[in-house]
Amino acid sequence: MKVSYMVSGKNCKFAALISKVRPVDNYQSILKKYWGYDDFRGIQREIIESIGNGCDTLGLMPTGGGKSITFQVPALAQEGTCIVITPLIALMKDQVQNLRHRGIRASAIHSDMAHDDVLRILENAVFGAVKLLYVSPERLSSELFLKKLEHMQVSFICVDEAHCISQWGYDFRPSYLAIGKIRSIVPQAPILALTATATPLVINDICDKLSSHPSPLTSHLSPLTPHSFKVFRMSFERKNLAYIVRYVSDKEEQMRHILQNVPGTAIIYTRSRRRTKEIASMLNEAGMSATFFHAGLDSNIKDQRQKDWQAGKIRIMVATNAFGMGIDKPDVRVVLHADCPDSIEAYFQEAGRAGRDGQKAYAVLLFNDSDRSKLLKRISDTFPEKEEIKEVYDHLAYFYQIGVGSGYNHVFEFPIDKFCHNFRHFPTRVLSSLKILQRAGYISYQEEEEGQARLRFRLERDDLYRLRDNGTQADALIVALLRNYSGLFNDYVYIDEAFLAQQTGLTRPQVYLILKELGRRGIVDFIPQRSTPLIRYTQRREDSAYLQLPPAVYDDLKERYRERIEKMIEYATSENRCRSRMLLHYFGQDDAKDCGQCDVCLERCSTLNKAEDADRAQTLIEELLADGKQHHVSELHKLNMPYGPIETALETMIYEEIVIDDDGLLSLKNKRG
Ligand SMILES: [Zn+2]
Repeated sequence: MKVSYMVSGKNCKFAALISKVRPVDNYQSILKKYWGYDDFRGIQREIIESIGNGCDTLGLMPTGGGKSITFQVPALAQEGTCIVITPLIALMKDQVQNLRHRGIRASAIHSDMAHDDVLRILENAVFGAVKLLYVSPERLSSELFLKKLEHMQVSFICVDEAHCISQWGYDFRPSYLAIGKIRSIVPQAPILALTATATPLVINDICDKLSSHPSPLTSHLSPLTPHSFKVFRMSFERKNLAYIVRYVSDKEEQMRHILQNVPGTAIIYTRSRRRTKEIASMLNEAGMSATFFHAGLDSNIKDQRQKDWQAGKIRIMVATNAFGMGIDKPDVRVVLHADCPDSIEAYFQEAGRAGRDGQKAYAVLLFNDSDRSKLLKRISDTFPEKEEIKEVYDHLAYFYQIGVGSGYNHVFEFPIDKFCHNFRHFPTRVLSSLKILQRAGYISYQEEEEGQARLRFRLERDDLYRLRDNGTQADALIVALLRNYSGLFNDYVYIDEAFLAQQTGLTRPQVYLILKELGRRGIVDFIPQRSTPLIRYTQRREDSAYLQLPPAVYDDLKERYRERIEKMIEYATSENRCRSRMLLHYFGQDDAKDCGQCDVCLERCSTLNKAEDADRAQTLIEELLADGKQHHVSELHKLNMPYGPIETALETMIYEEIVIDDDGLLSLKNKRG
């Protein structure tokens, strides 16, 4: 299936207008002024001009291709606020800080923020004081955001990691679907969708989901492109990166071997948090500098390790896939996968962190038969049987004691270990079931890392004042709460335990214990700062016999997932197709040539060399024996060639009865007659 990129031009309503007002080189001068670069790279300018002309635009740029410039520059060139939707809070914070550092007015709103802060930022944006407003996709559906958006002058909407909107993609996020809705609030604002990875199918789905008005006029040109997007694509080819697959049983031995032979910075990816630590200490014991990283570590430890690695103080980072987003270390020489990712997309992204500086680098995948069965098992782990999902749904209701027909909008903490222990489930399969139930609209499952503490009062204000016997510390805390936070009587409000401790002169553990106690007495609802996920019933509890899991949330997705897994296995096990070409083909790029440096190409090359050597060796032997006499085998050592190929050629010639071996005396058969 081939995607052709049609340019409809229909959507470029402001094209003529804008190009008159703004000379093209305005973009260049903005680039120079704020970033210090003289000119754009690759397809940056084409994307910038397209969105600047008011066209819906999709940019496909591999990581490291300079993606952020393509929305930051036009955002500055235009009147109004650019809304940037991006799923990773850490990255968002990073970019905002970076922009502010350059003197650009940028702000972010995301789920970790207190209501008052969000309100202040939104009002600033309405007032026109924010050029780039970063928003996490979860925030898009909030009433406050939607209300304020109506009053904003929006230049354009940038959707980063745009593949997250596609159910066919490997990283579908339901919250992205809200983007379609906000378009109707600001219909004049064009969309700039950006992604570093997308198959032809996903590209079409992105354009389709983000289109304000699918245009029937263009649909006859290609059934796959009934949208108004201009699509720009950078080649995903990485000329300095050699893709290697090693079929090995002893992976640790292979890791040591590779790292001893390829000097320089390295990343090793593994699926298991436990393994990150084990591999790092194995490498330490082998005298190599290594540390480990996964999402379960304290954030200050993670920061420190990342800094040390970035600064070159530590050579090898052993990590889960939690490591790497937003990291831009140019001189990584090898990315080694000890376990196989479950999609080519994920593999390509992670492997692509090697060799950003353009120097030779390696992406090595270690694979064996057990990896194949592990990958296949992930299909049933990610999509448990429907009966099992229903069982999890029922057990959830027993766990929280919710009767059929009730529970709507109730929120609960979800201690997964306890749940699994009580009902004898496996955590991975429970998580998968919850995600499917979420997609089907029964619950929402929120996995917040280090979520902020929240609190609301369960009593009316007057009742609160009538309370006695709280103790002085609790009273001080209640006063501090009332003074510093508004809306506590209506809904949950984010609170800051450390700040409250400072305000009341209590210690942080004291604040925590007092709030817990107030919660126990029914005075407040308190959700402490935590990393426990939350479950909310988005519908009344249904009798599980009537639970609906339609194809769009189950069967279709399971099929796509299976296809992705199979493609990954195909990549890892193929022995005769250039790895680079296989990857590029997967992303719809069919004009690539053999890379000449992956293991398949190298093997082919050495096979060719062997064949040439064998030919030459045979000729030399024939020339020696051409006189029809017998020659002692030792004379072959005098031939102008290493003895290896000579010996191989001789064996073949004797086997094929071209040469006769008479106890070490050689002669040509047909010459002897
Ligand atoms: Zn190749």
